[in-house]
Amino acid sequence: MFAHGFRWGTFLRPYRRGLGALAALSLVEIVLRVLAPFALAIVIDSALGTSPLSGWLTRSLDALGLATGRHDLLVIFAVVGLLLQLLHQLVVMFHGQLSVTIGQGMIRDVRERLFAHMQALTLKHHAATPTGEVAQRLEGDTRCIDQLLLRGVFPVAFSALTLLIMFCILVRIDVTLGLLSLSIIPPLYVWLRFYARRMASPADHARRTDSRLSSRLHEIFVSIRLVKSHAREDHEQQRFSRVAGDAAHAWIHVGRQGAVFSIVNGVLTVAGSTLILIIGGVAVLDGRMSIGTLMLVLTYLGYVYGPMQAIANTSGGMQQALASARRIREAFTVVPETLDAPSAIAASGIRGTVAFEDVSFAYVPGMPVLDHVTFTARPGDMIALVGPSGAGKTTLASLLVRFYDATAGTIAIDGVPIEQYRLGSLRQRIAIVLQEAVMMSGTIRDNLRYGCLHASESEMIAAARAANADEFIAQLPLGYDTVLGEAGSGLSGGQRQRLSIARAFLKDAPILILDEPTAALDTISEQQVVDAVRRLWAGRTTFVIAHRLSTVREATRIVVMDKGRITAEGKHDELRRTNDLYRRLASQLTDTPT
Ligand code: ADP
Repeated sequence: MFAHGFRWGTFLRPYRRGLGALAALSLVEIVLRVLAPFALAIVIDSALGTSPLSGWLTRSLDALGLATGRHDLLVIFAVVGLLLQLLHQLVVMFHGQLSVTIGQGMIRDVRERLFAHMQALTLKHHAATPTGEVAQRLEGDTRCIDQLLLRGVFPVAFSALTLLIMFCILVRIDVTLGLLSLSIIPPLYVWLRFYARRMASPADHARRTDSRLSSRLHEIFVSIRLVKSHAREDHEQQRFSRVAGDAAHAWIHVGRQGAVFSIVNGVLTVAGSTLILIIGGVAVLDGRMSIGTLMLVLTYLGYVYGPMQAIANTSGGMQQALASARRIREAFTVVPETLDAPSAIAASGIRGTVAFEDVSFAYVPGMPVLDHVTFTARPGDMIALVGPSGAGKTTLASLLVRFYDATAGTIAIDGVPIEQYRLGSLRQRIAIVLQEAVMMSGTIRDNLRYGCLHASESEMIAAARAANADEFIAQLPLGYDTVLGEAGSGLSGGQRQRLSIARAFLKDAPILILDEPTAALDTISEQQVVDAVRRLWAGRTTFVIAHRLSTVREATRIVVMDKGRITAEGKHDELRRTNDLYRRLASQLTDTPT
């Protein structure tokens, strides 16, 4: 659905009508632009000069009952010129509005689709991709569709059409002048191609430096605590300045090249105009051409060069837009997280018997992190996972929610391998409470409801109460409407923890994964957290990455892990007698204050 189904055409289809209207408006615009200078030529030749008005114009004026004295002609054609210009401006305005509406619509569509795709990518991919790069793709690169189509293909096509029409008119007026005016086009074209090739790589480089810049920014501010705690502001400032400097240099280079380009462009244009002025001027002096016609030719010439320049100027932007388009295509080719098989079933009815059967896993091929793990947990079980750091406890939990898929073996819930459940539905039935409670910016209510978006007010309050969070929320001046800062700032660690437990209560999932908070919390908060957690795990299939003696004592089963293997299973007292590793680990666990 994602990588293979990606076609730029999909994004155009909804805008077929709009694009049609845009094309029609562009045609009207060209016609008006071609007509407008005629009025001025008539004013110059027939009102200010002495050339007679052409036959059909005289007849038309007569039919309208208008006088054809030179003063009358002056006013009439000045007004006609004005009206044509006004109409032209109006069309330009509508054209602009429609173009922006369509362009932004298409950008939004690409963004939505890309956002959905990015969200669906694996955690592994996200871990390897800087956030800034993702942001750059979504914010910057998605503009390419507008750039390519509405600032590229459309203007170029209509500029070419304008060129053609004006050339035909110029040739009709004076073949020599018409052909001469064209003489500028080959050098301009050669120059254009040269420029496009020269600009491609610097423009791409500049975009990449921008991308690096935003990556750095994200990285620094995500880790701002680390930066401050080590007083590394100066160090980061230097690193940032370097990247910012690179970006500035890259864009200056692009800008300089652009400026040189404009100058050559301008010189070519002026040279062309001067040539026509001299040759046309001679024709006027010799009485072969009227001043009005020369005016017309020069005005058209301006118009002819205009579209040429437009084509030329667009080409730089087009190179960038094409690079963006390539990056977006590339992003869509990254295969997203496990797609549900058509036969995938809902996990909504599961009771929560979890069976690991000979499960192995490696983040990096050849370096197993889990090694033939087999065990079963049933509803009501509280499994304490104990083991030295790096033993694979977190990984084991990650496999259950399919953050990663096992390299070998099967994980089944209620006898069905987890790959056969729809992924979203599976994760809906597993609640996770992490050591470091993750909060979003928004109100406390928004944060609690994240676990169950349609929960009623009373269900939410009941969950908060069960999590010992209701009391402190009630004491806040705005209660549940209190707005949390980013990452839940404004609350203590214990309060955040209790909100995250409340969220799990609200989700009411049969399977629970707890990464037990360590002694980071103060005594009172900790007791409240512990009580809440106990209530939470009752009746569910619970896995606790345990850090407390009291938890392991209460566990229905302790699973001792070491280097990716299960080395022992049992109850606390039994393991303490029989297992050396466990005895050592248990002596390091903190106890719950009473
Ligand atoms: P525990 O939770 O028991 O401390 P983990 O499951 O976090 O252990 O880690 C087990 C091993 O896997 C460790 O050696 C760790 O370095 C490695 N590991 C964890 N996460 C990743 C990852 N995303 N990529 C590569 N290796 C990882």
